[in-house]
Amino acid sequence: MTRQFELKELIRSDNFIDGQWCAAADGARFAVSDPATGTVITQVADSSPADARAATDAAARAAPAWRNLLPKERATILHKWNALIVANQDALGALISLEQGKPLAEGRGEVAYGASYVAWFADEATRIYGDIIPQQQRGKRMTAAKEPVGIVAAITPWNFPLAMIARKIAPALAAGCTVVAKPAEDTPLTASALVLLAHEAGVPAGVLNLITASRDHAVATVADWLEDSRVRKITFTGSTPVGKYLARESAGTLKKLSLELGGNAPFIVFDDADLDAAVTGLLASKFRNGGQTCVCPNRVYVQAGVYDKFADMLSRRVAELKVAPATDPDAQIGPMINIRALDKIARHVDDALAHGARVLAGGKRLPELGPNYYAPTVLADANHEMLLCGEETFGPVVPLFRFDDEPEAIEAANNTPFGLASYFYSQDLRRIDRVSRALEAGIVGINEGALSSEAAPFGGVKESGYGREGSKYGLDDYLSIKYLCQGNLA
Ligand code: NAP
Repeated sequence: MTRQFELKELIRSDNFIDGQWCAAADGARFAVSDPATGTVITQVADSSPADARAATDAAARAAPAWRNLLPKERATILHKWNALIVANQDALGALISLEQGKPLAEGRGEVAYGASYVAWFADEATRIYGDIIPQQQRGKRMTAAKEPVGIVAAITPWNFPLAMIARKIAPALAAGCTVVAKPAEDTPLTASALVLLAHEAGVPAGVLNLITASRDHAVATVADWLEDSRVRKITFTGSTPVGKYLARESAGTLKKLSLELGGNAPFIVFDDADLDAAVTGLLASKFRNGGQTCVCPNRVYVQAGVYDKFADMLSRRVAELKVAPATDPDAQIGPMINIRALDKIARHVDDALAHGARVLAGGKRLPELGPNYYAPTVLADANHEMLLCGEETFGPVVPLFRFDDEPEAIEAANNTPFGLASYFYSQDLRRIDRVSRALEAGIVGINEGALSSEAAPFGGVKESGYGREGSKYGLDDYLSIKYLCQGNLA
């Protein structure tokens, strides 16, 4: 029988190192708050380099036994972990909503989404094949075997506190690696709950270690992993500047890196698009998690012939979105994660208005709901002078840019250092072929706004990073290839 936990049983406030819950070495703590109200939920361990080192020591001790398990033994443990996550979907979903602010339905959805990666990599653990290389010389046999890369350090953001860490830990464990992990300051509780369930599922002591840290302590704490030559891989999801910093600072020990970084996704609506489908796709992709996702469309390009009609259809639907705390069952948009996020959104909208944008919906803070709420917003007459064209807004704001022809749309869409997701709507098969090849992005949505799947490779090009999560490719980042050359054979 798979054990079910109450929400309060899932809330942990200590680090998890070597199979034990323990306070930070120096006893420091920081507060975790509900973004809807600012109420403190609990005080968690504020780690320092000593805690990072203790986690690495535990991961190093546990590594030989874990990598020597049979793949199907690791798979069995991962399947149990998946079953526990699924059985605790309601409590985990509530915890995500509590510390991150997304509506309850989205919190529950994130649990299912994160669990799907655990189930996927449980199966993939048993499919790590090498190659027998066709013989090149008599008396010599050459093979390529795949081995776990070693200790993996996982560093994750706040916007998907369960899914982002699950899709790093699951492939690492499946490959036979041990893990040290640090979640974001704003959302450490879901990660701790996930680790609790992994322990319950039978992940042995030291195989998975989690430390929490405030923003003030994160740099020095993570630096210990960057400099430690026992840590062989960094897997990071977060902003591009921090990804570049991690690449630079870990260069001294030449670690393998997976970097899932920021995006600036274009969403193109051509004259020949099914406009109802385009509006529905845009709503789904833009307003998930209140616009705080890396694959959110940030720039919406609409061809001149359908611009006014599309703007009108979209702004009517956006004006109907319900903004409310996660606890309201009808909520579609919750609070933003913190006041810094809100200030950035307001700065982008103010700057757009100063550069000639017109508000078709929203365009303001909602202080009557709390300090962190912003109204879902549609802005017409966006142009490339505006801040929101070059930077991720990471909030519920849709700027509508007008374009005349296909080359102009492609050039504008690609005119960014980022290349994570992109979207376009068209019903012309030749155009679909041309545009999908021309867009510089790791992910292309064609007449579709919901792209993520555990079976598909997720990741970017250009300054959106490298590495892929999910799919049959997702394990490669946690494996190295060993070439075996056996000679002197008859
Ligand atoms: P962030 O500021 O880069 O932080 C991500 C993680 O790195 C957090 O755990 C953070 O800790 C830690 N961190 C920050 N600075 C660090 C440093 N100097 N040394 C060590 N650790 C450090 O990103 P965020 O604001 O949490 O997340 C939003 C960003 O993530 C957006 O750009 C979004 O596009 C991107 N994202 C990308 C993907 C993808 O798959 N490509 C998915 C989701 C999000 P603190 O919390 O303590 O700062």
